[in-house]
Amino acid sequence: MNILLGKTESELVVLAQDLGEKPFRGKQLYQALYTRRTLDLNAITELAKPLREKLCETSQITETTIGNVFYSSDGTRRYLLKLGDGKEVEAVFIPEEHRDTICISCQVGCAVGCAFCMTAQLGIKRNMTAGEIVSQVIIVLNEVYGAGAETPHGTNLVFMGMGESFLNYDEVMKAIRLLCDEKGLGISPKRITVSTSGIVPKIVSFGQEEVRPRLAISLSGTTDEQRTKLIPLNKRYGLDELMRALQSYPLRDREKITFEYVMLDGVNDSDEDARRLAKLVHQYHLKAKVNLIPHNPAPELEFNSSPMSRILKFQQLLNDNGVDAFIRRPRGQDISAACGQLAARKAVNS
Ligand code: SAH
Ligand code: SF4
Repeated sequence: MNILLGKTESELVVLAQDLGEKPFRGKQLYQALYTRRTLDLNAITELAKPLREKLCETSQITETTIGNVFYSSDGTRRYLLKLGDGKEVEAVFIPEEHRDTICISCQVGCAVGCAFCMTAQLGIKRNMTAGEIVSQVIIVLNEVYGAGAETPHGTNLVFMGMGESFLNYDEVMKAIRLLCDEKGLGISPKRITVSTSGIVPKIVSFGQEEVRPRLAISLSGTTDEQRTKLIPLNKRYGLDELMRALQSYPLRDREKITFEYVMLDGVNDSDEDARRLAKLVHQYHLKAKVNLIPHNPAPELEFNSSPMSRILKFQQLLNDNGVDAFIRRPRGQDISAACGQLAARKAVNS
């Protein structure tokens, strides 16, 4: 079976021609898949019935299906999605006052092994394809708003679900180009954030991309010793190498790098850490802001979140030292949908 979602317009044109059709049929297919978010080949009525039948015999739009949806009391929704081979990933819909955010996955599991993250405990099962990555956005938008319906106030997209984007770089970039294509889904790259635990060579490549979303770096430590304990990848790409790559990263006007910093009680949340973090930002002349993320607990994880009084003090110290810092409000904790809690759980809180 040919899987259509994930194909570019020119790939669909070739596919139409292979079926003995005119090239514009491929363009119509592209429009139906990405502009109207159609998931049913038979609903593409601008294609003549014999063509639709031919397509149905040889192709399928996507193999991704919804396994379950969990609804949080704060409006957040967690989607357990089943891929073609039965493997499962998660996507999260987070409604906000002015704009909704969809958090998507890029790998089944993750190889990086961060000590504070549930996804790490799965290990890496496999990379997701560009089509599988895009299917999450279409499925979530259709479940929330209905197939083809306009999204009322646009969508932010964050690659902060399961997996490390820069260890699946090519498929993630292909997905991003599809998501941003104005002829298709038309999501602005400014509204997309890719988060990485710090794969330095790929940060450099990302900076050279024509279609380039915003960049977020999961920092969570201010010395090599401390960061390596939390994010083992730091052994390979240490703080100095990471900071140098960020120093030469080509930011656009008014763009900033976001540092994500998971607040772990008694581990990385001292006054000294806050001052060291501010010093790093200045030492490498970075245009950056910091998002402080209270640690989301899970029974399998050994950490506790820093108390809010500590997080506020940490934020104050960063601000006093000339670094903008914000506290991320946990969303969907009651359905295990918050940052670092994604592990394809079958139940709300199991
Ligand atoms: N793999 C990418 C993106 C997914 S994780 C990365 O690590 O950047 C998205 C964010 O959630 C990261 O900043 C990560 O540090 C954070 N995170 C992981 N586990 C967490 C937890 N248990 N509580 C709070 N944040 C967590
Ligand atoms: Fe992977 Fe990100 Fe979790 Fe680390 S925090 S294990 S990089 S998903």
